Amino acid sequence: MNILVTGGAGFIGSNFIRFMLKKYPGYKIVNFDKLTYAGNLENLKDVESILNYQFVKGDIIDVQLVESTVKQHKINCIINFAAESHVDRSINDPAIFVKTNVLGTQTLLDVGYRNNIQKYLQISTDEVYGSLGEKGYFTEETPLSPNSPYSASKAGADLIVKSYYETYKMNVNITRCSNNYGPYHFPEKLIPLIITNAIENKELPVYGDGLHVRDWLHVKDHCSAIDLVLHEGTPGEVYNVGGHNEKRNIDIVKGILKYLGKSDELIKYVEDRKGHDRRYAIDPNKLIKELGWEHTYTLNEGLKETVKWYSDNQQWWKNIKSGEYVAFNQVKCNDKSL
Ligand code: NAD
Repeated sequence: MNILVTGGAGFIGSNFIRFMLKKYPGYKIVNFDKLTYAGNLENLKDVESILNYQFVKGDIIDVQLVESTVKQHKINCIINFAAESHVDRSINDPAIFVKTNVLGTQTLLDVGYRNNIQKYLQISTDEVYGSLGEKGYFTEETPLSPNSPYSASKAGADLIVKSYYETYKMNVNITRCSNNYGPYHFPEKLIPLIITNAIENKELPVYGDGLHVRDWLHVKDHCSAIDLVLHEGTPGEVYNVGGHNEKRNIDIVKGILKYLGKSDELIKYVEDRKGHDRRYAIDPNKLIKELGWEHTYTLNEGLKETVKWYSDNQQWWKNIKSGEYVAFNQVKCNDKSL
């Protein structure tokens, strides 16, 4: 397979590229990424010299560049991770979310269709389903009811993907996963923010009463799910991905403090996020029953391992917090060996 991975310099995309290069040494992987603030080529430093890995700096709304990349590398699969992904940023600046997440998706689909690719896989989110009460789970049949500009743009993208299946019979799949965590997670998101702030003895901001519930998925378990859907997903189908690891935000924060041996006094409750969904929880049964997916991490194991990763890789996140990774990206983009 020759796979175009968009957004491969981000958190999940970079973990997926590493996973695929190791599992399928014969596949060619082209990482197409705009390198926004969230894109960091340091995430892929250990694989950049592998011959069948290539990086192309570009925007997914740039039709010509996407098309020439697809043709040049004889791409037959597109996996779209590229997105503006931070809910708080979408509240302040929704426009870029619509551009990248909706128009970008449509651009990739168009180019893919014109070039007869075999599979288009859209990486979506459980946030498109909206919020749950205290009970119940999101299934693939749950109506879309997004509440933030981020989740609305992802829901819009999902509908465009579906329309390419219904209208053009293009071989598409959508995966909708719960909150991911693990190595190379940008430290603006809850788990890496709390770990890195706690290591530096800084305040740990917790929204509202801290009782919002999220269903956590280790990024490596997510990668194995995407791999399965890529190879075995039924055309046109949506698959939910989640590890039945529901936890209240405050318990995640306290768990991290326990692993680091730090005091709860660092916790600071801050004003709640606007439109903050109360609970997300995924029913992953379709993926388990139809494709035989299994998750391997419990939240306790995964969180402990993640805390250790951030403790052992402080230079990686300190470069982000100080802004130095931007210079690293620049050097890599000028490096003709990439
Ligand atoms: P991320 O923010 O870490 O990475 C996004 C990547 O996309 C970055 O490398 C960025 O440079 C790139 N990008 C942004 N705009 C682009 C554009 N216009 N053209 C090309 N590249 C562009 O995101 P992530 O956490 O790795 O999430 C990846 C995907 O998974 C997203 O689509 C997101 O909606 C989805 N998702 C993430 C989570 C999660 O917990 N992280 C949960 C559910 C779904």
